[in-house]
Amino acid sequence: MAVLWLDEINAGDIETVGGKGASLGELTGAGLPVPPGFVVTAETYRSFIEDANIDEELFAAVDVDVDESSALSAAADRAQELILETPFPDDLRTEILDSYHEIGGADEAFVAVRSSATAEDLPDASFAGQQDTYLNVTEADLLDRVRECWASLFTQRAIYYRQEQGFEHSAVNIAVVVQQMVDAEKSGVMFTSHPSTGEPTMIIEAAWGLGEAVVSGAVSPDNYVVERENRSIDVTVADKKLMHVKDEQTGETVEREVSDDKRNARVLSEAEIDTLLDLGERVEDHYDQPQDVEWAIVEGDVYMLQSRPVTTIDESGTEGVDPTESTVDASEGLTDGSGGVQATSEGASASEPGESGEIIVDGLGSSPGTVSGPAKIVTKLDDLAKVGEGDVIVTEMTMPDMVPAMKRAVGIITDEGGMTSHAAIVSRELGVPAIVGTTNATSVLNDGQVVTLDGDRGAVLEGQAVEPEEETEPVEEVRPQSPVKPMTATEVKVNVSIPEAAERAAATGADGVGLLRMEHMILSLNQTPAKFIEENSEDAYITELVEGIRSVADEFYPRPVRVRTLDAPSDEFRQLEGGEDEPNEHNPMLGYRGIRRSLDRTEVFGHELEAFRRLYELGYDNVEIMFPLVNDAEDVHRAKALMTEAGIDPAKRKWGVMVETPASALSIEQLADAGIDFASFGTNDLTQYTLAVDRNNEHVADRFDELHPAILRLIGDVIETCREHDVDTSICGQAGSKPDMVQFLVNEGVSSISANIDAVRDVQHEVKRVEQKLLLDSVR
Ligand code: PEP
Ligand code: MG
Repeated sequence: MAVLWLDEINAGDIETVGGKGASLGELTGAGLPVPPGFVVTAETYRSFIEDANIDEELFAAVDVDVDESSALSAAADRAQELILETPFPDDLRTEILDSYHEIGGADEAFVAVRSSATAEDLPDASFAGQQDTYLNVTEADLLDRVRECWASLFTQRAIYYRQEQGFEHSAVNIAVVVQQMVDAEKSGVMFTSHPSTGEPTMIIEAAWGLGEAVVSGAVSPDNYVVERENRSIDVTVADKKLMHVKDEQTGETVEREVSDDKRNARVLSEAEIDTLLDLGERVEDHYDQPQDVEWAIVEGDVYMLQSRPVTTIDESGTEGVDPTESTVDASEGLTDGSGGVQATSEGASASEPGESGEIIVDGLGSSPGTVSGPAKIVTKLDDLAKVGEGDVIVTEMTMPDMVPAMKRAVGIITDEGGMTSHAAIVSRELGVPAIVGTTNATSVLNDGQVVTLDGDRGAVLEGQAVEPEEETEPVEEVRPQSPVKPMTATEVKVNVSIPEAAERAAATGADGVGLLRMEHMILSLNQTPAKFIEENSEDAYITELVEGIRSVADEFYPRPVRVRTLDAPSDEFRQLEGGEDEPNEHNPMLGYRGIRRSLDRTEVFGHELEAFRRLYELGYDNVEIMFPLVNDAEDVHRAKALMTEAGIDPAKRKWGVMVETPASALSIEQLADAGIDFASFGTNDLTQYTLAVDRNNEHVADRFDELHPAILRLIGDVIETCREHDVDTSICGQAGSKPDMVQFLVNEGVSSISANIDAVRDVQHEVKRVEQKLLLDSVR
């Protein structure tokens, strides 16, 4: 049997059907209503490569030095080609297609096709084969999609990961889940017990249409709090303006307005709540643990789409962090020029350093937390190997190549850079305490010297003030402690720069990604785009982009992910292989970067656009395109024309610009007329260009003030004009994590705020507080 039906599978079948398949099978076997589906087993994948005699060549092809990027890329290309070009044996083709027909009966079914990696002993099997998911697949594409899931075991990233971790390529297999998509009339989520206290109180959220609207936060759902013992229900009916539905023609998910009669109508009847309650109790009993369930209702039938254990219940019985207590010191950002929220230190490494420690170096606290460890002075890339677990990296400035070492380190200290530098952004995303812009750490500190780094105060102290800590869990640290995230009219999103941080970013419960910086993906190739293409191929470059974006888009789907086209100053490119061909600019910040470079090098820009086109083709309709550093409508018209030329319909996709120069702010009316869907404030640049303060120059860091009245005036005017033109506004600069800026923006009517990972929770509460005040003021 090449396939197993979900009702033939249970939780013990991970080897055969992978984690995802096993969990859906377990629910089905427990008699819970899961949409029908089957799994193309891992053994099937194995026989496919063995019967076609490509297995040996496949494993030999990927046995390369993965630090050689061209060898790695060639290995991935060859391995994928071997799989994608091997035809399905007739009997396998027939079996999969027959099974597919059984799902839909006489009708053509829309199915989801998802890879489900099976390596049990890998710490993160999902990484072993990237989580490829294809939605709304029909017969025409089904077999190709299955084969693409198999080929996803051999992306560059997956090969690299296995090699680095010392796992045999041949030990990892992959199964593929094929499951009917549910065209829901109503849907939502439920916690089977109270997520904070564990009490028998069920919390249900419900909205019209497909579940994406609830999961993505696009709509405020109805809220039902049900006491399981006496079945008393407390209902809050929300104003549900939007719903997501499947477009009949294309099969894609589209957003529609809710009809007037349903907008303020209650979604769930008493009978439906009863059914959900029964299901919730059954699934909780089955797992003997409270569950977080996604459900959908179609033609009166309730389906369970997913069930996960609730992770937020505080079992210690001690008070958890009160999520309504803001940990932000509102005065901080106004005076110190630092962009980030100074959140209290979290996790085990947060104890105060002893007072005996003398401050030996100071700088800008750019990622919170306090840690101790031996300093490792890194002066050139070759030294990176000496950075081990528990060390503190001390360097002039971090480079994208350093990301693996930055993950190993407990802390990071740099001589150069401000709050928006690579070191500051990446360390925050990784949850590693950091201090930037010390000017002298590499000369004052000695290799091996034990230091304590206080990322809140920006101080480095002599000696060890903090014990080496138990492992902190960066993902759990940012997961909201509150059961129901604060419902806000203003969306709260998150910034992501490195795909490695996607899981941590998604765990914040943010409403999407407000900024995914494409250049960090490219910089991590350690070659300029031109060099990478020369050594590999255009296609390999596009594939890198598709894979990087996709790993974030997957993590957030269906929440929107706003991806920005390339914006790296030439001095950053000059540090990469191939950088000698880059212009040596007198002032890179005013130079060849952002959309001006893209419009000049249209062939490279074309590759980025092609990556977007492929992502849309793959069904990632949550991806949005954002152009950086535009000045005027001319820039926008030209970018839009190139988008169309690349096969992307600007009328069908969400796209927009960053407002980062005074010129763009003053031209906003023309930008709106050019057709943008959104404008996002890049306050890091808007501040540097308005105040003439180099954002990366530690000598003028005290003048870097995003709340300067001149900047607030530009922002306020842009929001007002955009509201008149029905254009969404957002912020994705560091200032979006500052409470004063959040207050200002919400009062002005901004549509969304995108914050740093560690600030999302506080920003959600700050937004809610300001919105409530506005509401109260309006009725007083
Ligand atoms: C900004 O300028 O505020 C921004 C978010 O872009 P970057 O920091 O990447 O220049
Ligand atoms: Mg910028």
